[in-house]
Amino acid sequence: MGEVGDGFIQAMKILDGGRISIAALGLGIATGAYEASLAYSKEREQFGQPISRFQAIGFKLADMATKIEAGSLLTYQAADLKNRGEKVTKESAIAKYYTSEISVQISTDAVQVFGGYGYTKEFPVEKFYRDSKLCTIGEGTSEIQKLVIAREILK
Ligand SMILES: Cc1cc2nc3c(=O)[nH]c(=O)nc-3n(C[C@H](O)[C@H](O)[C@H](O)COP(=O)(O)OP(=O)(O)OC[C@H]3O[C@@H](n4cnc5c(N)ncnc54)[C@H](O)[C@@H]3O)c2cc1C
Repeated sequence: MGEVGDGFIQAMKILDGGRISIAALGLGIATGAYEASLAYSKEREQFGQPISRFQAIGFKLADMATKIEAGSLLTYQAADLKNRGEKVTKESAIAKYYTSEISVQISTDAVQVFGGYGYTKEFPVEKFYRDSKLCTIGEGTSEIQKLVIAREILK
């Protein structure tokens, strides 16, 4: 339990670690949405060709892949610091903020790639779309992550 009077500091340290878990959660949702979009875009044909051949779809997939790689590096960086016993207040907030926001962006784009089918329960992307939003709220909202990051960089 620690010392009397240290509760707030301990709670903040636990949140630093928890935020890495939410970053990983957001990254997993984003990756699932991306992989489903990639596979579907190669299968679904419109105007006589797979929709992956349309630049509008290819650009969405490129944005998804780029954001996932960046989010992955931020999450592993925060996890690595935590494993080494370093302070991770800023890094965990950055990883959590970035991955949760891209999770919402990517799952929203995934529904778009699936078109009308994206809105149905026949495919997983509608669930990614709903679940991703939690990541921008739980363990501190995106606004609170920005407060934490600003406080850390303005010290
Ligand atoms: C599915 C789900 C599971 C959850 N699980 C848990 C759990 O297991 N344990 C737990 O303890 N909590 C849990 N939560 C609660 C979660 O941590 C809170 O919902 C979250 O921290 C936001 O707090 P709030 O809902 O009171 O929103 P509020 O604090 O009322 O925020 C409302 C809005 O105001 C903004 N805001 C608030 N304060 C500021 C500020 N100072 N500056 C700028 N903007 C601000 C917020 O960013 C948000 O946009 C869960 C929430 C959800 C949705």
